[in-house]
Amino acid sequence: MVSTNERGHVEVRCDRCLAAPVTPLGIRTWTSREAALADLLGPELAWELVDGRLRCATCARRVGCERTGHAYGRWAPVPGSQLASRVCRLCAAEDHAPGYVLARASA
Ligand SMILES: [Zn+2]
Ligand SMILES: [Zn+2]
Repeated sequence: MVSTNERGHVEVRCDRCLAAPVTPLGIRTWTSREAALADLLGPELAWELVDGRLRCATCARRVGCERTGHAYGRWAPVPGSQLASRVCRLCAAEDHAPGYVLARASA
């Protein structure tokens, strides 16, 4: 959502997780809604505007996972256990499986 604070500065928040872009000085603000959207949708912040709703880069990646499935990397052993896990390269979701998956994958 795009809102204007008491000092007339434009603030934005992700409509899904309420994250706001920050700088070392605090929440990032803009002088106009147009300037905010131009920065948000640019390559640096990589937000998305879908159906009039703003999504931060993290939520935009998650939505991609919900649509097309997670982009899991390779199974890897979980140290100190007989389990294996793999991590989505886009949203960092973790998937766990018994260790025998490793044996089968390398066979
Ligand atoms: Zn978000
Ligand atoms: Zn994912």
